[in-house]
Amino acid sequence: MKNKISAAILITAAAVLVAALLPLLAVLYFDVSGTMKGLLLALAVALPCLAACIMAGVYSEKIVKPIREIDPESLDPKSCYEEISSIVHRLRRQNSLIDRQMADLRRRQEEFNAIVSNMAEGLVLLDNKLEILSFNPAAARMLGAEKVREGEHFISLNRSRIFVSTVNEATEGRHGEGHITLGSRVYQILANPVSVEGGINGVIVFIIDVTEKQKREEMRKEFTSNVSHELKTPLTSISGISEMLQSGMISEEDIPRFAGTIHDEAGRLLTLINDIIKLSKLDEAAITPERKRVELADLAVSVTRRLAIVAEERSVNLKVVGGPAFVSGNPSVIEEMIYNLADNAIKYNKEGGSVTITVTPLPHGVQLTVADTGIGIAAEHLDRIFERFYRVDKSHSREIGGTGLGLSIVKHSAEYLGATLSVESRVDSGTAITVVFPPADI
Ligand code: ADP
Repeated sequence: MKNKISAAILITAAAVLVAALLPLLAVLYFDVSGTMKGLLLALAVALPCLAACIMAGVYSEKIVKPIREIDPESLDPKSCYEEISSIVHRLRRQNSLIDRQMADLRRRQEEFNAIVSNMAEGLVLLDNKLEILSFNPAAARMLGAEKVREGEHFISLNRSRIFVSTVNEATEGRHGEGHITLGSRVYQILANPVSVEGGINGVIVFIIDVTEKQKREEMRKEFTSNVSHELKTPLTSISGISEMLQSGMISEEDIPRFAGTIHDEAGRLLTLINDIIKLSKLDEAAITPERKRVELADLAVSVTRRLAIVAEERSVNLKVVGGPAFVSGNPSVIEEMIYNLADNAIKYNKEGGSVTITVTPLPHGVQLTVADTGIGIAAEHLDRIFERFYRVDKSHSREIGGTGLGLSIVKHSAEYLGATLSVESRVDSGTAITVVFPPADI
């Protein structure tokens, strides 16, 4: 019989029946004495009990043993009797469902870990006791908390007053925000409560590196104030002279001289405004993305033609050597760079000096050097000459029509073109500014 439990019950029942019937039949069919009858009747009660006990012992072991031997890891319905095999089947189905769900959970966890560990922003999750549930590598790096472990109180990540109060703000159900400075970096801390069923169950903290953003904002503010100052000087002069002209304070013979000053100041304003427009276009990457194959030596020759008169006025010898060498990029941006470098090399030169533009093809790009035999730049200024409005000698620069923006346009153009810049200079001997362009790709 396939059904093991039913068979066990039937066999047990039959055994009990036989054990009860045998003494009773003996009483009925044999002529036994009163004492013997009593004994047989007692046997009719005792024997079924004994048979039941023995059968229970035998079958319970047979029934229970396969159940005990079920291996949850490898459920095999064939190794069990029918009643158990249906349970084993169900367990197997449930096991495979759990396996699928576990695999799904693991995949999601891996996805979450991959996103969180590759995030540039720091992410910290805190529980309702403000203990760390998890934090990503960026948070550890930013806060210098590589040794902190999950389960520690959040304060071990950073003890600064602003960090603590920003997190505390979130524990009260509000959005917390603050900035902390660690070393040379500035971090923005954003803390938000995690609310579940109306209660606050934890806090999520975001850490964002805003150093560059803050620097840019400061530079923008500085630039605006510098621009206003630079515009104010020529405008004040123009306004003063025109007022004097209007009120007849200037004699007839002085008028051409004052008109000349107005003309010079207006010219300076125009140059300044043109430079500001070029810079802001480079800042916003608003230059037409026109990319062409450009031969640098040809471009340098065309720059020297444009500057020939200025160079002649200052008795400076201007020449191009080397080439041909090709680069890719916006021709007008490249020409503007070479123009500004050569213009400076003439402006800050000495009577009878020289400017040499050398174009050299390199294995991994093209090098262009503008070298002069001019006044040179003292070492302490070398780091700053590419800053906006930075001039070594402000009045000298103004006198010769400088805006203080020429080299910052060169620096921005180099960044725009993916080129690198370097400068070498010796006071009274001359300056050499080198640009290394990436190789032409068109
Ligand atoms: P500017 O309009 O004043 O020339 P730049 O940004 O072009 O402004 O240059 C910044 C400063 O760097 C100049 O004021 C000058 O002091 C210095 N400088 C630039 N090029 C040279 C050079 N070739 N020789 C000496 N000094 C230079």
